[in-house]
Amino acid sequence: MFDVAIIGAGASGLTCAINASFEGLSTVMVEKGGIGGQAATTSKIENYPGFPQGIDGQKLMSQFYMQAERLGTHSIVANVTGFKKESDTLFTLVTENDTLPIVARSVVFATGLSFRRLHLPGSDNMRGLYYGPSVHQAPSEYLKNVAVLGAANSAGQAAINLAKYASSVYVINKKPSLDQVMSSTLIKDIATLKNVQVINKCNLATITGKDNKLHFITLDNGQELPVSALFVCIGQLADTSWLQGSGIDISSTVGNFGKIIVDENLLTSIPGVFAIGDVRNNQVHRVSTAVGDGSRVVQHILDYLKGKS
Ligand SMILES: Cc1cc2nc3c(=O)[nH]c(=O)nc-3n(C[C@H](O)[C@H](O)[C@H](O)COP(=O)(O)OP(=O)(O)OC[C@H]3O[C@@H](n4cnc5c(N)ncnc54)[C@H](O)[C@@H]3O)c2cc1C
Repeated sequence: MFDVAIIGAGASGLTCAINASFEGLSTVMVEKGGIGGQAATTSKIENYPGFPQGIDGQKLMSQFYMQAERLGTHSIVANVTGFKKESDTLFTLVTENDTLPIVARSVVFATGLSFRRLHLPGSDNMRGLYYGPSVHQAPSEYLKNVAVLGAANSAGQAAINLAKYASSVYVINKKPSLDQVMSSTLIKDIATLKNVQVINKCNLATITGKDNKLHFITLDNGQELPVSALFVCIGQLADTSWLQGSGIDISSTVGNFGKIIVDENLLTSIPGVFAIGDVRNNQVHRVSTAVGDGSRVVQHILDYLKGKS
């Protein structure tokens, strides 16, 4: 049995793990994907304090991970598919393909956000279709003519990174210009790149494959673009549908849809169960705010556990 079980090893979960282990709590962190979550998918984070020249997100997150490990956090790679309150003082997490549940005295949801999926015919198993901006998802032979769907900052970062590898990069933006959603630094950077073409006031209509590999995409103005890879950056969602019926309150309001509702102590509707980082309501989506949550939640866990012993 652990004092605290953290679900998710992004910036918030890792910071919680570092601080919980530092305080002497027996800590387990369960991650279903790569260590570092969203922050690890970006090649340069420029607004995280302490790195005047910016820092590669993966590098920053691997430093967080090493710190948690050194302080004694126990890490498990698994997809958590079930959560249950066993008693007033005990919780279990059920993981996919694992018969042994994880038992803990407190639980922290640090499950973040995932990129929205395309729901077009053929999009389920098409090779060359990627979600989020990380260039590293695609084998190099796919990075010739590529497209980015979306126009927020993640799409901007994808376009800038892809321009280093691909001969042409199309950015498909449904709005009249980029400046409605993308930060001005990224817009300026994109304007200097000769191989990036922004197509405004257009949306994706269909994707067409050849041998189940992306061949071309068609826009809603009828334009066909021959691309070998499409990076879909059309917003993110808190995937909390699996928590339905668990007793944890989930928001259904605009702007917080799907997010876990917490109070000022990051406590959910169940005592002993906390939510931090992008998955909780009213959060500003930044690495530094995720770190702030991960750090301060530990004090609330300590207070909670003291009250139970
Ligand atoms: C491309 C991109 C660029 C960004 N650039 C910046 C930037 O420059 N500066 C900045 O401040 N912020 C930036 N952000 C935002 C920032 O990265 C996030 O706000 C922050 O990292 C959120 O951290 P988190 O721990 O809350 O969630 P996440 O990073 O989303 O981590 C959640 C983790 O939980 C895991 N998980 C989810 N469900 C389960 C489950 N059921 N079982 C097990 N594991 C699970 C996920 O796999 C993931 O690893 C960027 C985000 C993106 C996507």
